[in-house]
Amino acid sequence: MHVGLIGYPVRHSVSPVLQQAAFDALEIDASYALWETPADQLGGTVAMLRGPDYLGANVTIPHKQAVLKYLDEVDPMAAAIGAVNTIVRDGAGRLLGFNTDVEGFVRSIREDGASEIEGSRVVLLGSGGAARAVVAAALANRASDLTICARRAEQAKSLLADLTGHVLANAGTRTRVVPLGDPSAEAESAVRECKILVNATPVGMLRHGLHPSSSGEGPGVRPFPDEAPAGPDRILVQPEWLSVQMLVCDLVYNPPLTPLLEAARDRGARILNGLPMLVYQGAAAFELWTGRAAPVDLMRRKAREALHG
Ligand code: NAP
Repeated sequence: MHVGLIGYPVRHSVSPVLQQAAFDALEIDASYALWETPADQLGGTVAMLRGPDYLGANVTIPHKQAVLKYLDEVDPMAAAIGAVNTIVRDGAGRLLGFNTDVEGFVRSIREDGASEIEGSRVVLLGSGGAARAVVAAALANRASDLTICARRAEQAKSLLADLTGHVLANAGTRTRVVPLGDPSAEAESAVRECKILVNATPVGMLRHGLHPSSSGEGPGVRPFPDEAPAGPDRILVQPEWLSVQMLVCDLVYNPPLTPLLEAARDRGARILNGLPMLVYQGAAAFELWTGRAAPVDLMRRKAREALHG
């Protein structure tokens, strides 16, 4: 059987490594390929998945929104977010769209063991693609408060409007948008009072030549040899805002200890990088294609090796 990653570009992705390891470990006869697809070929590549030899695909930038129109059905969560990162071909050859970033994020937070989204004050930095999945997770899991700190308030407001107005209708989460700037007293008080702080911006990641992926599918990048790790200034909040009561989660996974996570650790906060989310979104896709439990520990080990050697 065939399965693969549809995007442009895709060559730096870690998905083949972790997915192929999972197929092999469970002795499933499937091979995971990279299907680099320019925009004008997207319809053709998706149509190929209707063939009986295909399980489906992952989808990454820049096609996660555009792909919806080629699918027969879109899961409510993916429809709410407006982005599909996983396609499943069902027994009748129909193509179903899902977004596993939300589940990836929720499962990664559970890994912390001491944090629950439900009833928690959540602060989110950023309002791009990854932020949409975090907002959906916070609303669907009934965070008590969700504050989006963004430098473009209008984008953050429209993100909230899209998601709260959707089938995931806000079940009591208080939401607001505050500017992320210098200085921002509102951002400071929101961060100081939160239980879960999530960075969904690329700030703190190793620089590289590609746009970051919003599905975790993208840059399984290694830094270019001439590039130094992010400097200590690459952090959007003041270290003194962070405290022991918090889980600080950075969706960036390269480097594994970002400047934000380092500051949080120094302040006694619990920390979580983006690797668990990357692995769990892949595990959720694997489970949708195969109906089998994904070998998560193996996938994590493979992802870590691919990223950090
Ligand atoms: P995106 O769609 O481009 O959104 C990036 C967001 O960050 C935008 O809101 C952007 O604001 C904001 N931003 C960028 N630079 C900023 C700065 N200097 N100060 C303040 N805000 C800034 O990117 P994305 O796809 O959401 O990805 C964001 C990060 O999450 C990437 O590092 C990506 O690798 C990571 N990610 C990880 C996973 C995982 O599985 N672990 C999954 C998805 C994404 P503007 O709109 O104003 O530019």
